[in-house]
Amino acid sequence: MIHLELNKRQTEILEIVKLDGPITGEQIAERLSLARATIRPDLAILTMAGYLDARPRVGYFYSGKKPTQSVADGMIGMKVGDFQSIPVVVNENVTVYDAICQMFLEDVGTLFVVDKSSCLTGVLSRKDLLRTSLGSGELDKIPVHVIMTRMPNITYCKKQDSLIQVAKKMIEQQIDSLPVVMVKDEGLDVVGRITKTNITRAFLSLAEDHEL
Ligand code: ADP
Repeated sequence: MIHLELNKRQTEILEIVKLDGPITGEQIAERLSLARATIRPDLAILTMAGYLDARPRVGYFYSGKKPTQSVADGMIGMKVGDFQSIPVVVNENVTVYDAICQMFLEDVGTLFVVDKSSCLTGVLSRKDLLRTSLGSGELDKIPVHVIMTRMPNITYCKKQDSLIQVAKKMIEQQIDSLPVVMVKDEGLDVVGRITKTNITRAFLSLAEDHEL
């Protein structure tokens, strides 16, 4: 996790305020044998970043919070590869009946569909399968490639993508999950799965990192 780098003087100011706050800017300057004007930019940075709070006529005090700047840095630093789950794939010729069983067995909400060379060809959601179950067809006769959402209409991501990008795609496309892929000669290899649960877990880890 990237933290805002403080310089030596800012670190000293932070220490003084931690020990002796609330303390005025004038008093801090005096302790450092500097002019009040000299440390004004440092105090501004420490306050804006969330390390210090300032109250009129009281002075500066230590906020006790991790700086808000580093929460943003933490979010930008979160990558798909650090939060992804194992993908569950089925062949495009399996029946809708078998796909439903697979979904229960593996306890997932989305199945990814691959062809015989293991390349991504489709996605099956819970409602795709429910919709077909409501129809009159025989579930053990219909292959999943007939009902799946298929390439090139699949939204996918890569390990090195940022989680924020993925969350944005989920919301914009109104989908619950994305396959994590690696490009190979024949097509896309499914190497992972990112769901709304992974995003929620990442959100929670951010809160825990910052003791929120
Ligand atoms: P549900 O249909 O159970 O609410 P989703 O919201 O994930 O689940 O899926 C909505 C529709 O979008 C379904 O028809 C599904 O096939 C399709 N879909 C799901 N994930 C993707 C994806 N990554 N790319 C393209 N389409 C998808």
